[in-house]
Amino acid sequence: MEDKNVENDITDEKKLDTVEVQVSKRDAILRDLASNLSSYHILKLRLSGSVFIGNYKLPGWSGEMPFYAFKCEKHGFVVNYPTGYEQRLICPFCVD
Ligand SMILES: [Zn+2]
Repeated sequence: MEDKNVENDITDEKKLDTVEVQVSKRDAILRDLASNLSSYHILKLRLSGSVFIGNYKLPGWSGEMPFYAFKCEKHGFVVNYPTGYEQRLICPFCVD
């Protein structure tokens, strides 16, 4: 059975989402975080390349991760968590 309710609250973990729903929710949350950066965050980001904005838990995750804002040449200010064993910050909208 498919879960057709794609507008669940992000804190609602009772329903199991498909991977596609989780990804679209994740993207919406990341866009939201990126569009709500404070001027302090943007200043720090310009000075040091990236700035820690807080710990967040995305749909489907069991725990929180540290999130950083940084600038993508293509997408402007974006937010993501460090990935891979090198813990690099990669634009979530450049990779697929
Ligand atoms: Zn990008």
